[in-house]
This record gives sequence, C-alpha cells and structure tokens, in this order.
Amino acid sequence: MSAQASGQGGEDVVLLQLGEYTPDVQARLEAAFRCVKPADLERDPALAGRVRAIATRSNLALPAELVERLPALEIVATNGVGYDLIPLDLMARRGIVVTNTPDVLNAAVAELCVGALLALLRRLPQADRHVRSGAWAKGAFPLATGLAGKRLGIVGLGRIGKEIARRLEPFGVALSYYGRSDQRLDWHYEPDLEALARAADILVVAAPGGRETAGLIDARVLAALGPRGYLVNVARGSLVDEAALIAALEQGAIGGAALDVFHNEPDIDARLSGFDNVLLLPHIGSATHETRAAMAALMLENLEGWFRERKAVTPVTA
Ligand code: NAP
Repeated sequence: MSAQASGQGGEDVVLLQLGEYTPDVQARLEAAFRCVKPADLERDPALAGRVRAIATRSNLALPAELVERLPALEIVATNGVGYDLIPLDLMARRGIVVTNTPDVLNAAVAELCVGALLALLRRLPQADRHVRSGAWAKGAFPLATGLAGKRLGIVGLGRIGKEIARRLEPFGVALSYYGRSDQRLDWHYEPDLEALARAADILVVAAPGGRETAGLIDARVLAALGPRGYLVNVARGSLVDEAALIAALEQGAIGGAALDVFHNEPDIDARLSGFDNVLLLPHIGSATHETRAAMAALMLENLEGWFRERKAVTPVTA
C-alpha cells in the first residue's frame, strides 16, 4: 500500500505500535498508517478513540485494559506466531480480528532447536570457553553426549514441531510425539506425556503457550525424563514449571536443558545461570534477518489487506 490507509472520511488510519521494528519495517508502517505509541495516548487521551489497529510482537503482553480503552479497534496484528499474550476472549467478544505470522518462521525456529540441542549435548559453549581460556593446553575437553541413536519426544508436533522432526530425523534419532490428537504420521504418537518423557532421552517442547498448556512440563514429566534426559524448550516459558525444572536440575534429576524461552523474560530466574548443564538463549528462535523480514512483511500484509478489502491474510483461528 503506497498511500496511507484511510478511513471512511478519508482520514489516516491510526495504528498503535507496541514494540520496536527495524528501520525499513518502521518506514513501511509509517507510510501506510499514522503510527502512535502508548506514550502518545497518555499525552492525548482523545487519540485512543481513533486507534483502529495495533501492531505488536508475540513476546509482548497486550493488556485487556488497553484494548478496553480503544473503542474503534478493528485489528491486532502480531509479529510472531504465538498469541498467548493476547486476550482472545475479549477480541472475540468485540469482533476484533487477530492475525499472526505462521509458517514463515518455521525453518528459523527449527534450525535454532537443532543447534541448541547439539550445543547442549556436545557442550559447545563450554568447549569454546575451554579453547579461549587456554585450558586446552592443560588438558583435553571432557567427553560429551552424542545425538545419534537417541530417542526423541516432541511435545506439540505442529508447523514448527514437524520442521524440527524433519531436520532431526537424518541424525538417526527415533522420533515420537505428544499432542491432543494422533496425526497418523510415520512418527510414533504417544497420547500419554509422562510415558513419552519416560521413553525419551530428549524432550523437545514446541506446543503453544497459554492457559491450556501452562505447566505442562511439570515435576512428574521431568522425573520421567530422568537423570540422563535432556529438555529443550523453544516454545514458551509458561509450558514448563520452572520451579520444578530448577529443583530437578539442583537434584541432578534431569541431565540438562536448553532453553530459548522463560517465565519472566528478559529477567530470568538467576538460579538458571548457575547450572553448567543448561544452555540459555535470549528468545532468538526466529531471530534471523531473513525470517524477521518475512514476519514483518506478513504482518504488514495483514494490516494492509484488512484496511484495503477487509481481508486478513493469516487470521488466528483459535
Ligand atoms: P502450531 O502449528 O499451532 O502447532 C502447535 C502444536 O501443539 C500442534 O501440533 C498441536 O497439536 C499441539 N498442541 C496444541 N495444544 C496442545 C496441548 N494443549 N497439549 C499438547 N499439545 C498441544 O504452532 P507452531 O506454529 O508450530 O508454533 C508453536 C509455538 O512455538 C508457538 O505457539 C510459539 O509459542 C512458539 N514459538 C517460539 C519461537 C521462539 O522464538 N522460540 C518462535 C516461534 C514460535 P494438537 O492440536 O494435536 O494438540
């Protein structure tokens, strides 16, 4: 859309922007909309009545109280696939369209998952430090754990979970998955999460966050994974009972963990930094130039499609 999106009276569409974007995305947003920030609404409360769109990011919470203050809101476009921090019930009641950016980030998140898993098992960050610190000259780096031949359970075999499975299969792992339904695929479906964890050497979490999955990976699942089992979470921090995970790590009840997501990002529980068998990543699943550009482009297409012809490209159907 080259000209600014306009309302019935020809006035510019006011878009509330939450979060920051790269300069090119910001320029495209500003070319199409009159962009305002939350601070602008504080300065000029009347502006709230004119906000018809929100552009946000999936790692930012959209408070229901903010939505309540925006009577003209028509669409919330999130830059990301997760929508667990958007009050969907309220959106449905108000008839507000919610869009996300599925699929375009599958490869990046799956790549990160594979990389994190290998880094965890082969202790790559520690090995790098071993060389840099000069410790290599004093002794060989200790042996690590291999991936080939391991049994791997995926919790949530959706768009991203399947890309993870496809990438990991050539490593020679035995794959099983857990979800609410048997998708009748070549990979083994396990309807009991604890049984999946018990049978697995590695548990990869790729299901959505939100009320339904909060604390899904609890003390019992971690105990079933066991002292030689590894947990990889590239989904949402809320899926893992973090207190139970920390307790399991303290007791040596699981072998280790690779975490891209946490309960309280970016101020994570400091105890996690104390474990040598935990790989910590700053929520970078989709953080590549290519993927972030594709996500932003899809978010913009959703917004522009809505104001051009009332058609969002990838509406959330929750
Ligand atoms: P998706 O296609 O909707 O897949 C979700 C999968 O989880 C489905 O296979 C679904 O299978 C399963 N599932 C849903 N509810 C479940 C429940 N209550 N218990 C167990 N399994 C359940 O989603 P996606 O596009 O793959 O994305 C998955 C998640 O990855 C996102 O929601 C987001 O939170 C996360 N993510 C993280 C990053 C990052 O930077 N780390 C980036 C992008 C996405 P059934 O319907 O059969 O249960």
